[in-house]
Amino acid sequence: MILQRCTVCTQRCTTKPFNTTIAWRRADLQRVAYRLILCMQCYIEKVVPLDVNVEAEARLACPGCHIDTEADYDAIYITSFIPQYGKREIQAPFCDACAAHYRIWTQEHGELLQDQVGATGGPNLYVSPEEVLRSLGIPTDGAA
Ligand SMILES: [Zn+2]
Ligand SMILES: [Zn+2]
Repeated sequence: MILQRCTVCTQRCTTKPFNTTIAWRRADLQRVAYRLILCMQCYIEKVVPLDVNVEAEARLACPGCHIDTEADYDAIYITSFIPQYGKREIQAPFCDACAAHYRIWTQEHGELLQDQVGATGGPNLYVSPEEVLRSLGIPTDGAA
């Protein structure tokens, strides 16, 4: 028996839960992340539809309403730990309206992560080589 309850349907999970972090950037570029514990059913319902494989040359489409979002998407980043599989990262190129819906749903069912270091996934983890050098005290003068 699994002790944890799904934070979405609130049922006790029948299989190992899918620990999931859902993150995005606010208009002020501040990153926010929420943690959810999903049962398999809720994972299949809410996360799997976003896990689409986009061909390198294909245009991006909103996973909610399927309109073209190549030029203007509102990204949501999802990191899940799938039982017996491991970490799975998804970047969803939502349109504005579907992104807003998904964020409201996430905020209703998730727990806000205050510790940004504990929030995995999302491109904010990217640190430029210059920043690394600077933090090591190495001058970056002359760098392009
Ligand atoms: Zn559930
Ligand atoms: Zn949409």
